[in-house]
This record gives sequence, C-alpha cells and structure tokens, in this order.
Amino acid sequence: MAKSPEVKVAVFGRAGVGKSALVVRLLTNRFIWEYDPTLESTYRHQASIDDETVSMEILDTAGQEDLLQKEGHMRWGDGFVLVYDITDRSSFEDVAPLRSLLEEVRKPRHVPLVLVGNKADLEHARQVATEEGERLAADMACAFYECSACSGTAGTSGTAGTVAEAFHELCREVRRR
Ligand code: GDP
Ligand code: MG
Repeated sequence: MAKSPEVKVAVFGRAGVGKSALVVRLLTNRFIWEYDPTLESTYRHQASIDDETVSMEILDTAGQEDLLQKEGHMRWGDGFVLVYDITDRSSFEDVAPLRSLLEEVRKPRHVPLVLVGNKADLEHARQVATEEGERLAADMACAFYECSACSGTAGTSGTAGTVAEAFHELCREVRRR
C-alpha cells in the first residue's frame, strides 16, 4: 500500500481567537477552556479524506511571533488555516495582512488556505457579519467556514463538524496542487 500523504498545516491568527481550542477539538473531540496562550505546539493527526488516509502535521502558532518566526512558519507549512474571532473585529482585520505576508513569502507559488471565523456560538457578541467573512474569502479565493470550538461534535454535522471539514478541505486544496 502506498504511504499515506503528509500535509503540513499551520494555524495562524491573533492571540485569543481560539486556534488552540480548534486544534484540540479536531484532535480529541473535546473543548478545553484554558490553553496557555504563549504555547506553540505541533500535533500529528490522521484523517480519512475522500477514502484516503492523510497524515497532518499541525502547527498551532501562538499568534505573538515576530516577523522572522512568522515567515519561518509560513515557509514550513503546505497549507494554512487563517482564524479570526467573529466577536473581535480587530482579529478579522489581521487576516488580510497575514495573507499578504503569506503571498510574499511563498511567491510565486499558489498558497493553499482556508478562512475560519471562530466562536460562532457567541452570536450575541458578533462584530463581524457572515457576509464579511464570505467576501474576504472570495477575495482570497479560498473556502470559508464559521464554526465554534466549543459546541457540537466533531465529525458530525453542526459547527464543530465544521472544524474537521475546514482542515479536510485545506488538505484537499494542498493535494490538488
Ligand atoms: P489562541 O490564542 O488562538 O490559541 O486561543 P485559545 O484556543 O487559547 O482560546 C482563547 C480563549 O477563547 C479561551 O478562553 C477559549 O476558551 C476561548 N474560545 C476558543 N474557542 C472558542 C469558541 O469557539 N467559543 C467560545 N465561546 N470560546 C472559545
Ligand atoms: Mg493558542
């Protein structure tokens, strides 16, 4: 049997948007409330995507890196999850500059990415409309998901199923190239 493909995924976004919570949700199907925000970790995760086993290596960045570290992470990854918090407009405004830096670091290659608006469970505190996320994703020609790291069950429908779907779609995008 052929060796399963490996995809290196780096998760970017301002500190506090829920990157660690999303990764933990993907890996364990659990939500963990508090995570050391300064922690940067890599995880291995195997998933069955379109009947193929894919090994992901996932880098959960801290979101406080300096430019040099950021560029290093951007060179390391095959694909990127750009996360913002729907209740924090400034985290949304951080996305476009991240994308520009990615383009610059990776040019002239295509940059596989997905855009994720997290904390969709906090509808009452929403600052970024779904349409704004959709528009930004259209500008970046990438897939867009709104989800929540803390509700539903990964692997099923519902918003945490969306967490897995976002990572799987990114792997497809990487493999297409
Ligand atoms: P990171 O800095 O991007 O890794 O963010 P964390 O994963 O550490 O999450 C920051 C804070 O947001 C923590 O208090 C989490 O419990 C909370 N959080 C993360 N995801 C969600 C979510 O989907 N919904 C809600 N309500 N809180 C979340
Ligand atoms: Mg974190």
